[in-house]
Amino acid sequence: MVTSILNLEYPDRKPLLNYNNPFELLIAVILSAQTTDAGVNKVTPELFKRYPGPSELAAAEQNDVEAIIHSTGFYRVKAANIIKTAAALQDRGDNSLPNTMKELTSLPGVGRKTANVILYHIFDQPAIIVDTHFKRVSKRLGFTKFTEPEKIEKQLSRAIPKEIQSDFSMTINLHGRKYCFARKPDCSGCPLKDLCPSVQI
Ligand code: SF4
Repeated sequence: MVTSILNLEYPDRKPLLNYNNPFELLIAVILSAQTTDAGVNKVTPELFKRYPGPSELAAAEQNDVEAIIHSTGFYRVKAANIIKTAAALQDRGDNSLPNTMKELTSLPGVGRKTANVILYHIFDQPAIIVDTHFKRVSKRLGFTKFTEPEKIEKQLSRAIPKEIQSDFSMTINLHGRKYCFARKPDCSGCPLKDLCPSVQI
């Protein structure tokens, strides 16, 4: 019931990060840690103009990358991570992205959330993508009591059928952005208000 309402409410489930190829999506998701997708979308056009692929970014001067991505926060660590990740992709020989959780999370700056975004949007694999919106909304809807992202991911990976996991992830995330805000959820306008155990009206 919840999933069918969410699917109707959010027919467009593309990532909110702008990208033109798998490499750009991976770098954009790494940069999105602790900041907004809109903030990342402001810096990536310049970043990918100067460094269009793994080979170019792997050879970049860290100071230059830091200056471009400065506004996304944690820019020193992020610059170091995306340069090292680009080098790791270059080492694969064909600049391709790996398609397993194990290989993806071995890349610098890539955690399970980032890996799941890539597995879903690039490789069309089932994925429970636990970000701050997903964590908050899935708890309010009573899908989990856990607070640790990995436990939430494992629990819901078992509970949600594989064929709908990715849409479930995206629609729950979008719901957190449209109605189920962290501070003051818009319960009166929410299409799930009759089903939600946390409704406040
Ligand atoms: S009813 Fe309120 S708390 Fe429940 S999902 Fe909707 S916005 Fe969130």
